[in-house]
Amino acid sequence: MKSLDTVADISRAVRSRETSAEDVLKGALDRARAAENEGLHAFLSLVDHGGPPVENPEVEDGSGGRNGALAGVPVAVKDNICTLELPTTCASRILEGYRSPYEATVIRRLREAGAQVLGKTNLDEFGMGSSTENSAFGPTMNPAAPGRVPGGSSGGSAAAVAAGVVPCALGSDTGGSVRQPAAFCGVVGLKPTYGRVSRYGLVAFASSLDQVGTFGATVADAAYLLEVVAGHDPRDATSASHTVPDLGARLEDGVGGRVIGIPREYLPDSLHPGVQARFDEARERFRAAGAEIREVSLPHTRYAVPAYYVLAPAEASSNLARYDGIRFGQRVPEARSTLQVYEGSRTRGFGPEVVRRIILGTFGLSAGYHDQYYGRAQKVRRLIARDFQEVWDQGIDLLFTPTAPTPAFPLGEKADDPVSMYLSDVFTVTANLAGIPALSQPIGSVEGLPVGGQLLAPAWHEGSLVAAAGALEASYLAEGGG
Ligand code: GLN
Repeated sequence: MKSLDTVADISRAVRSRETSAEDVLKGALDRARAAENEGLHAFLSLVDHGGPPVENPEVEDGSGGRNGALAGVPVAVKDNICTLELPTTCASRILEGYRSPYEATVIRRLREAGAQVLGKTNLDEFGMGSSTENSAFGPTMNPAAPGRVPGGSSGGSAAAVAAGVVPCALGSDTGGSVRQPAAFCGVVGLKPTYGRVSRYGLVAFASSLDQVGTFGATVADAAYLLEVVAGHDPRDATSASHTVPDLGARLEDGVGGRVIGIPREYLPDSLHPGVQARFDEARERFRAAGAEIREVSLPHTRYAVPAYYVLAPAEASSNLARYDGIRFGQRVPEARSTLQVYEGSRTRGFGPEVVRRIILGTFGLSAGYHDQYYGRAQKVRRLIARDFQEVWDQGIDLLFTPTAPTPAFPLGEKADDPVSMYLSDVFTVTANLAGIPALSQPIGSVEGLPVGGQLLAPAWHEGSLVAAAGALEASYLAEGGG
């Protein structure tokens, strides 16, 4: 299937009326249906063509505002972000068919910029997982690697971009859910600084870690989408008032004179040899592009996964209490008491991984264990944030690591082994714990399987990420692909 144009090409063509937003949407729908018929299963719902009218996509705006920046651009949206036209299910039975009475701020911003939501994408139930196999509605395939998982939890969004259905998509990243699927599918995934993008209308998993992130076929596609959805929102108390940088302007800044740190803890002996090889080559490309490379240490890295898997389930156990079969969630019809409504609805509505997280999280917060688990994990979180701060204080501008320890694994391989699934997040959870921005981009492949490299930057420095990622991408393009 032919991959489509970039975000910049589409919006330019729609604004200049070379093509219409309607035709762009129709093309994307045709591609989506064809991919779904081939078994991709990236989408849980698609807009109906001839359905809700596209709002004001052809805005001409000379004021430098947001209007028209994404004119006509079709965007796939993870199904844990609330939309009015399409259901929001979080890939959970408990929210099957659920219609949100309001839309997320990121969706409103997309519409204001002229973008069109093409459909809602598959995910691990409530964002809990690393393979999209925990979806109640069946797994998504990896378009780049048949028989392999697309990663997760935003696997549907990554797959939709990798299959060429859309040039960009929205996901959410609590512990790596944008970056790891981007790496597995061979696309770009960008998790912004905590507070950069409003979480209003993003269904909460672990509120102190959740952040909406963007996927793109290229660095530019992911950057333009982020620019539109970012910015302060009075409806999210954790959204920051920092001005949104002009990320497009940074794409060609290069890495000349930048100091890129390579943290040794992210290159363990157990790293997949193919990932190590692609990583080494990418590092040399940064050097050739003018960056100074320095080995650094983030000594508390090995505590990140255990801390994350105490904190994220603790927050989840609290956030998911609302699915009680009364206020939210499918209700079991045969219940005879309030307790039976809770018990029956939650037992039937939640899948096994969600149940595991709720039990783990409730335990970690319970009287007598709170200090030992939740309290201690909070302390580790501070140490991890301090590790990063010390590295920035040494004059390091960016860090470069592999995104995941292996390429995409076969479907079913880790499905019955939660700990080995959790370990695929070793390199990504640290950015969420520290609240810093991070980006994954393709750095070649091993036996046909895409490999991702991750850049990390100090808080609010998404522009540095885009500049460095743009330079690396250009280095691969210069030789006709990586
Ligand atoms: N894989 C991680 C988890 O299962 C991260 C998920 C996410 O970022 N939403 O919790």
